Amino acid sequence: MTESTDTDAAADFHTVGDEVRDRKAPSGPIQERWDTRKFEAKLVNPANKRKLSVIVVGTGLAGASAAATLGEAGYQVKSFCYQDSPRRAHSIAAQGGINAAKNYRNDGDSTYRLFYDTIKGGDFRSRESNSYRLAQVSANIIDQCVAQGVPFAREYSGLLDNRSFGGVQVSRTFYARGQTGQQLLIGAYQALERQISEGTVEMNTRHEMLDLIIIGGRARGVVVRNMVTGEIETHMAHAVVLASGGYGNVYYLSTNAMGCNVTATWRAHRKGAYFANPCYTQIHPTCIPVSGDYQSKLTLMSESLRNDGRIWVPKAKGDDRPAGEIPEDERDYYLERRYPAFGNLVPRDIASRAAKTACDEGYGVGPGGLGVYLDFADAIERLGRDQVEAKYGNLFDMYAQITGENPYESPMRIYPAIHYTMGGLWVDYDLQSNVSGLFVTGEANFSDQGANRLGASALMQALADGYFVLPNTIGDYLATGGFDVVDENHPEAVAARDAVTERIQKLLAIQGERTVDSFHKELGHIMWEYCGMERTEGGLMKAISLIRELKEEFWKNVKVTGVNEDLNQTLERAGRVADFFELGELMCIDALVRTESAGGHFRAESQTEDGEAMRNDDEFAHVSAWEFNGDQPVLHKEPLEFEYIEMKQRSYK
Ligand SMILES: Cc1cc2nc3c(=O)[nH]c(=O)nc-3n(C[C@H](O)[C@H](O)[C@H](O)COP(=O)(O)OP(=O)(O)OC[C@H]3O[C@@H](n4cnc5c(N)ncnc54)[C@H](O)[C@@H]3O)c2cc1C
Repeated sequence: MTESTDTDAAADFHTVGDEVRDRKAPSGPIQERWDTRKFEAKLVNPANKRKLSVIVVGTGLAGASAAATLGEAGYQVKSFCYQDSPRRAHSIAAQGGINAAKNYRNDGDSTYRLFYDTIKGGDFRSRESNSYRLAQVSANIIDQCVAQGVPFAREYSGLLDNRSFGGVQVSRTFYARGQTGQQLLIGAYQALERQISEGTVEMNTRHEMLDLIIIGGRARGVVVRNMVTGEIETHMAHAVVLASGGYGNVYYLSTNAMGCNVTATWRAHRKGAYFANPCYTQIHPTCIPVSGDYQSKLTLMSESLRNDGRIWVPKAKGDDRPAGEIPEDERDYYLERRYPAFGNLVPRDIASRAAKTACDEGYGVGPGGLGVYLDFADAIERLGRDQVEAKYGNLFDMYAQITGENPYESPMRIYPAIHYTMGGLWVDYDLQSNVSGLFVTGEANFSDQGANRLGASALMQALADGYFVLPNTIGDYLATGGFDVVDENHPEAVAARDAVTERIQKLLAIQGERTVDSFHKELGHIMWEYCGMERTEGGLMKAISLIRELKEEFWKNVKVTGVNEDLNQTLERAGRVADFFELGELMCIDALVRTESAGGHFRAESQTEDGEAMRNDDEFAHVSAWEFNGDQPVLHKEPLEFEYIEMKQRSYK
């Protein structure tokens, strides 16, 4: 049942439906919940596993780990990705590290502390049960990856090394220089390849999922396009797992790989899966600033650099002397000044906003004043250039190649950029969406990270989901049985395939005058301007109407060249951008409805006297799970309850 709400500016844009609840997390002591759930979950016996099939869309850390583990468990797995190799999933780009509560440094770390940091870091907008489980499982991930041969950095003694990331006061981040994602993905990929050669996993590269097939209320298959031949294929299974990554590219410019998109989860959303907290996006404080109009990609400078790099701006507005000529007492190390307890290692949302404030007030450096310094002079003096090079060499090289400047000699210039999305498909404790048999893992689900993810926690979540959580919980669903025998000729499967074909033909038939990229760029600009680092009621309302106008123009005036029956990247992008329009609209509506600030969602109207995000726990301590309903999405609230950690104003001072 739905009812209309007319109490706020967002009333015209949505209705409110029934509450949604996670019914899978057991009650009882938080330390025991995951064990209890695993014990209570029904099991599938090994002989029956061979008769059950699972589709896994995505081969990043979340998908490759899940497909490999399910294959090893004995299920028949079909794995899909749109790249030419599973190894090219965007996870490969992750640089800085992966968290785990191993307490190798004996610095007071524990499962409970990682849990606490995650809940506080996420600004009290994640579930306690999920965040605790994530912290619990984190230690297993490191053991698993070491056993696979992932070459984590080691100290001289041979023990695994750690460094610190933002929002914490311990060293719990495991890393492989600035290529942690690459090394972890090669580990997961090897495990996947092994299952492919064993015959338990069928790999389908260059296949893009374009629709979900639901039969009798259960997810039973996907429609995919073979991106080389254009053939539209139907694949059926007993359950579907989406591990298709995040949607940061709705902003056009982001640190994500160019191909990252929302289509898999958005198509599932259109088929009934709730999309949760879409407005929670993460803006990373240390990226190479935009340098011109021609750019289609932004480059991250890993947060690990904030271990040793110091962030500053000149104390005088508009000071354009080279950094080296600005004396110490004329520099403002603003993070160290404003947040003495955490200094340069405050969480990303706080560091990003502080950089924006410095630049908005006229203290920024470099072209357009849109940059702050990240300076290694002290670290080089303290540790020596060799040590700095050993720790961060590849990141320094990357910076030098892109900017033509030598970061060993003058400070890097950095500025915040879109990086990660905390929102995604709503899932319960079992990682199952509200659609039976549809599971969602990694960045694609609305994660355990709340309104702001702490650095090095995305890799942790992707691998926790894929290696440890899903393989335990999906069995409970598959063991329920009662699956009708269905094949690709089932009317629902045929209807889904026909709808995909029709949409492709529609895109090709428009033959308008504007390129797909020009639409994407304009959409990204609207999103960054009005639903980026700072959001206001007026700005969001304007964004919704601008997006609606642009979407209408897109469907009349886009030019998609080429044909379906061939490799056609313009066609691929057109479908993705069409979905980004609808997602962008929902993000703005979600941001409009949430009149509080929380983590990465900063409503200018809701801030403390000193400019920090001000939550409104009385009205907004809930997950916003959206049901697709055209222009009038339906909001289902899931109340968040905090039994272990007291909700209070975050402070990193
Ligand atoms: C530059 C950068 C650096 C980062 N560094 C870190 C770090 O140091 N530590 C950390 O914890 N996190 C980091 N992150 C975040 C982290 O990398 C991601 O959150 C994580 O890797 C996401 O993994 P995933 O498996 O969920 O998705 P991805 O790795 O994005 O994989 C998505 C998969 O889904 C497939 N797919 C998507 N849509 C479809 C479709 N429609 N049909 C078929 N296949 C589809 C793709 O082909 C791909 O295989 C970083 C992010 C960026 C951008």
